[in-house]
Amino acid sequence: MQTLLRTIYDDVKPLVGQGKVADYIPALASVNPHQFGIAIYSNQGELFQIGDADVPFSIQSISKVFSLTLAIKHYGADMWQRVGREPSGLPFNSLVQLEYENGIPRNPFINAGAIVVSDMNQSRFASPHYAMREFVRRLSGNPDLKTDQVVADSEYEFRHRNAAMAYLMQSYGNFENSVEEVLKSYFSNCALRMSCVDLAKAFNFLANKGYCSISKEQVISEQEARQVNALMATSGMYDEAGSFAFQVGLPGKSGVGGGIVAIVPNRFSICVWSPALNKVGNSSAGVAALESMTKHIGWSVY
Ligand code: GLN
Repeated sequence: MQTLLRTIYDDVKPLVGQGKVADYIPALASVNPHQFGIAIYSNQGELFQIGDADVPFSIQSISKVFSLTLAIKHYGADMWQRVGREPSGLPFNSLVQLEYENGIPRNPFINAGAIVVSDMNQSRFASPHYAMREFVRRLSGNPDLKTDQVVADSEYEFRHRNAAMAYLMQSYGNFENSVEEVLKSYFSNCALRMSCVDLAKAFNFLANKGYCSISKEQVISEQEARQVNALMATSGMYDEAGSFAFQVGLPGKSGVGGGIVAIVPNRFSICVWSPALNKVGNSSAGVAALESMTKHIGWSVY
């Protein structure tokens, strides 16, 4: 495995830095694009890593999987009345479908969907972001995970598009709490800083039938874990979900911080990270690394 990681790393290294770091969140624009790390965590508890796999970065939309998991734990199947399960085929921050579809977002991984999931968690927890951070600290086995307040504040300052989605959903009656409070929790979740190693570990439960071997808890049921993987496979990479399925063939979830998590069910959870993004907002080198990985070892759910 370590030799394989070295091969992939050397294959992809020339691509590192190609693309553009997210600059619509000003605090993310200053990240050095020439960083690249990979971590793989096996269901047997082995950890393999290379490059900048221990460097914490802004997890951004990868947090949507954690908040979805928290909501599923509480609401079960009822939550699907407020958010759909279909790919959107549109950018993650698009507003257009939301009006056509009466304020019900297509899936929990576009921003509108994740904001409605944050609204559900807001109804349930007194301090939703702290609940989420504690949850993720437990799953990753890292009690020191931090929220980057500068990033969270910067997102809140430039919240206009996300706020527009939330207020539109509120106008359709698909919102329970104060929009501004929910946005603050949502941005704080996105602003969690984790390394590839932290994320590969925290996603073990999705490779492991819903059981986290680090915190030793059944996080969600086996069937729910399969469902989250299915949502990642169909919607986790925004409007690139189709070609990611075609080229990589694994459930994946990306974030504009440049991280991508991928799951090999029953075997491994993987995190790759490199901050420069392609046109749809996925890490260019990250996608290439996952392509190279599945090509070398033929891992695919299809
Ligand atoms: N916090 C970001 C936003 O709301 C998350 C987007 C992403 O990672 N795709 O715009």
